[in-house]
Amino acid sequence: MMYNEKMVMIPGPTPVVKEIRDEMAREIQAFGDPRFVADFRATIDGLGTLMNCSGKTFVVAGTGTLAMEMAISNMTKRGDRVLIVSHGFFGDRFIDICERKGLQVDVLQSEWGQIVPVAKIEEQLSKHHYAAMTVTHVDTSTGTVAPAAEIGEMMKKFPDTIYILDGVCATGAEFEDVDGMNIDVLFTGSQKAFGVCPGLMMLWASKKALARRESLGETIPEYYCDFAKWLPVMDDTSKYFATPAINLVWSLKKSLEMIVAEGGLHERDSRHRQNAEAMQKAVEALGFKVLAEPGHRAITLSNLVYPEGVDDAKFRAAASQEGVMVAGGLAAYAGRMFRLGHMGNIDINVEVAVLGALERALRTVTGKDVLGVGVTTYLKAMEA
Ligand code: PMP
Repeated sequence: MMYNEKMVMIPGPTPVVKEIRDEMAREIQAFGDPRFVADFRATIDGLGTLMNCSGKTFVVAGTGTLAMEMAISNMTKRGDRVLIVSHGFFGDRFIDICERKGLQVDVLQSEWGQIVPVAKIEEQLSKHHYAAMTVTHVDTSTGTVAPAAEIGEMMKKFPDTIYILDGVCATGAEFEDVDGMNIDVLFTGSQKAFGVCPGLMMLWASKKALARRESLGETIPEYYCDFAKWLPVMDDTSKYFATPAINLVWSLKKSLEMIVAEGGLHERDSRHRQNAEAMQKAVEALGFKVLAEPGHRAITLSNLVYPEGVDDAKFRAAASQEGVMVAGGLAAYAGRMFRLGHMGNIDINVEVAVLGALERALRTVTGKDVLGVGVTTYLKAMEA
């Protein structure tokens, strides 16, 4: 069978639905056009309200990695001590970023699939003064979710430490609340749970984070990602610092409207949760093992360890033949696991089609008759 389109079920970019995709095909407008100025304003304000952020919201052309760099650059200065809480590959990325900036780096790492207990983070924070701490809400390499709210509560004991939460694989799906969870810097990329094409980063900074930036002086070594360069634009969207990604902003505006129409972040979280639990039951019924421990499993993706004898390259090639793209495992799990994204604007019909394709791929590589096993488990779990 030939498929014209392959379903993109990697953990980002996620499927971009027609309403959002159509915004990419619109005729360009000047960034000073009052129509775009108003759209940009509505997008920034809407994002601030969505995430309950009484500080500032930034929408900048770039990816999640730029947002990581922006967070660190604006919250720390050379010589500061930072604590990195890492649950995998993306948590570890902060180590390199921070070391390059001449920061003193302490790291708390978990086994892949597990999380660092909050008590252990608290104990470490009590040992030194940390300018900032980074946590990855969902580490895409492991599919684990950090207890972001509980960590935020604990952080009230450390008012001089900035709480940076990487929401790249979470924001817009896992419930988050910047003010309510005591988060100082939260960020994501457009290509994840917002279901927009890659190319934008969104970052929310609390009042405390804005004060920290101010305390660093008029300039910081970084230019493009200096809060001070973008604040005038975020406050008055008719101003120019660097060219906004016009069509991506329109797509993001549409995505935001869809999130609001769905009922907001609580609704979005429950929909993802119900779906993820059903998906995880279904793939377990097919013989895959979810890497993340129960209780710490993300709702945005599943990291699935192969049953004995299933070859990664063959399985993913077979899935692609069946019209579904999934991602490979990272680092020590390369070749032993695949990653299945299930975040953003996807529904039951997409999931049933995906499971059907995974079943056919599994049959191709193992010869076992598994057709219907995952789909039936999924549909029953969705109805339970
Ligand atoms: N953090 C996390 C948790 C991620 O999953 C990713 C990307 N997969 C990044 C950061 C980096 O984002 P980007 O690829 O958009 O630069």
